[in-house]
Amino acid sequence: MSGWSELDWFLRTDPRDVGCDEALRLLHVYVDLVVPDASGEAASRYPGIAAHLAACGPCTEDYQGLLAAVTGQDHA
Ligand SMILES: [Zn+2]
Repeated sequence: MSGWSELDWFLRTDPRDVGCDEALRLLHVYVDLVVPDASGEAASRYPGIAAHLAACGPCTEDYQGLLAAVTGQDHA
């Protein structure tokens, strides 16, 4: 295992992707923006989180769960 696999991973990742730690840290802020109106303002203000959610299944599940909890709707 050398830097090559890391580089490979990096090149395949959306450069806006903030990564799991940052996405999870800001997820509640992101959800608070999404809930009032689904006009896409959250995605335009936090493109890094939107990019990460598009690429990361586990974080998307957390996001859906948080969204469901906030809105009181069951998205599952
Ligand atoms: Zn993630």
